[in-house]
Amino acid sequence: MWIISKASKTKPIRFFGLPAALALILLLAPVHLWAGWLEGAAPLPVVVLDPGHGGNDAGAHGPSGLKEKDVTLAVARALSESLAGSYRMVLTRDDDYGLSVGERTSIANHHRATLFISLHNGAGFTSAPGGMAVYFCGQVAREALPEADVSLDTDLVPWRAVYLRHQAASRRLARLLIDRLEPLADDGEVDSGAFPLLVLKGADMPAVLVETGCLTDPVDEQKLADSDYVRAVAAAIAVAVRTFFKSNGQ
Ligand SMILES: [Zn+2]
Repeated sequence: MWIISKASKTKPIRFFGLPAALALILLLAPVHLWAGWLEGAAPLPVVVLDPGHGGNDAGAHGPSGLKEKDVTLAVARALSESLAGSYRMVLTRDDDYGLSVGERTSIANHHRATLFISLHNGAGFTSAPGGMAVYFCGQVAREALPEADVSLDTDLVPWRAVYLRHQAASRRLARLLIDRLEPLADDGEVDSGAFPLLVLKGADMPAVLVETGCLTDPVDEQKLADSDYVRAVAAAIAVAVRTFFKSNGQ
């Protein structure tokens, strides 16, 4: 619909139509407002990062005293910085304080995360000392669950087995991460596998645990103390995350 000026009888002046008026409003509105509208129209996928340990729980210690809780937070901050803008980034902790394993998973579920990455160091699950590792949650023994519980076609999956819904995607993400981290690994190899990891078990989204090096190994400790190396590790993880989302059409 056009609005015609009453003052002009012979040559009507055409003002803005509705689309033009909306465009003008967008142009004149403060940037943060229309950015918010756009965000509201297409919410960004949520990536929850979980820096392992914190507070009284320092995790693994390096021979020179570097603490796992500090390395995991440094990696999480670098990774968050690298992915911010493309995704909504949430950290389970953004400072030096402790969280229970259940709280970490709950934060991911509460934020309806599209992806959950728990960050660690140490040799807890590695078969050989040193190096990096990427794990996803392994399947619980089927015989331990009633037949109905393991059916993925219903919503009746028990909470302790909710990860089963996302196991294929978690495995795919793990593969992408391994490919990107291998060039940074000492021997070009990244340990991997499925384990019944508590922090991933109740996560209702694709979820992995990444060990960015073994702190008890002096070489790894030295590398992880270097902020440039931490940024390189975070950049490698970020590429894998972007590839994962792209392959999902997100
Ligand atoms: Zn740890």
